Amino acid sequence: MSSFWAEHAWLPSGLARSVRLVVDDGRFVAVEPRAARQPNDVKLRGVVFPGLANAHSHVYQRALRGRTQSVGDNGIAWRVRMYDVADRMTPELYLALARATFAEMALAGFTVVGEYHYLHHGPGGKPYADRNLMGGILAQAAAEVGIRLTLLDTLYLSGGLTSEGHLPLAGVQQRFSDGSVEAWAARAAGIEQTDLLRRGAAIHSVRSVPKEDAAYAVQLVGDRPLHVYVSEQTAENLACQMYYGLTPTEWLADIDALGPELTAVHATHLTERDISLLADTECQVVVGHVLLGSCSMRGYRSGSAPTSTPSSTRSSNCVSWKCTNVWTAASAAGSPPGSSFGAVRCMAIRVWAGTTAARSPQGCSRTSSPSIWSRPGPPAARRPK
Ligand SMILES: [Zn+2]
Repeated sequence: MSSFWAEHAWLPSGLARSVRLVVDDGRFVAVEPRAARQPNDVKLRGVVFPGLANAHSHVYQRALRGRTQSVGDNGIAWRVRMYDVADRMTPELYLALARATFAEMALAGFTVVGEYHYLHHGPGGKPYADRNLMGGILAQAAAEVGIRLTLLDTLYLSGGLTSEGHLPLAGVQQRFSDGSVEAWAARAAGIEQTDLLRRGAAIHSVRSVPKEDAAYAVQLVGDRPLHVYVSEQTAENLACQMYYGLTPTEWLADIDALGPELTAVHATHLTERDISLLADTECQVVVGHVLLGSCSMRGYRSGSAPTSTPSSTRSSNCVSWKCTNVWTAASAAGSPPGSSFGAVRCMAIRVWAGTTAARSPQGCSRTSSPSIWSRPGPPAARRPK
């Protein structure tokens, strides 16, 4: 048990004075405003804010910072650079990037991160002697920094999706793949949970995992957190529709993946039915796409996901979407890590500006408030391409 006394703290009711915080076994057990300081309380000066959660991260992409702005809206060119970085990644470099990225997150106020981890193997897809070497590096870096990690160990089996079906893995994609659902599950099971590490899972996307494999993976994951890229690009939607006759969200519904444990990442190009499916099943959504260095990549971020967010997922989005994109947006802009709150406001304004709904711009500055997720009246306007 440890206790703190804050001069000021930001509580759900707003700013409060003289707040006593009691922590037991890693959790708050008491938050008492207008409380007197006790002899053993650690005094916290200034204003204490709740920790932020970053729901979507790839630490290796920190090496992309400042290297992708020139590609503009060209998603394919962006991916080529991203693959180039992934191809060069060594365990030593991965550790250095993970330490630096997690440390910057911690300094910016993040206390928990979900790492979408698919860089599993060595060059050519050859497994390391320790098959969880790369995941272990993430765990080590997070522990050193003191940030809690949800390791979203990612299933990745195919090189893409066209109207003809799934493509074979190519080039660096071989580093991402375990070859089968069984091999992925067996390897990921070797990662040990600790106080600072929670085991989660990800199905990379409808592009990278055939549907029958994804259905099996959903069964194996059980009630652990499961993340999936959903409708990240219009091309992905088109391929999914042509080959499977479904939107990516319908594809997930078909394999019984939808539910509170599922987080749809990006969810940029959803249909109204998709939104209903996600809302009715109480899915989480990490909305928006501002990967490191890709702020201007309209090919990915165009669309209206944040403004059409289902009301029932509103509050979870409010945390997960903001934090994910705040971090990456701040990094991309070359801002110091401490500017995350400013980046949250920046992203919130983007959301607000992308809708025709009459919503208060003041709401955008209240970034911790669900008010920015108020369901717009008229349909959300799409950004010009
Ligand atoms: Zn991502």
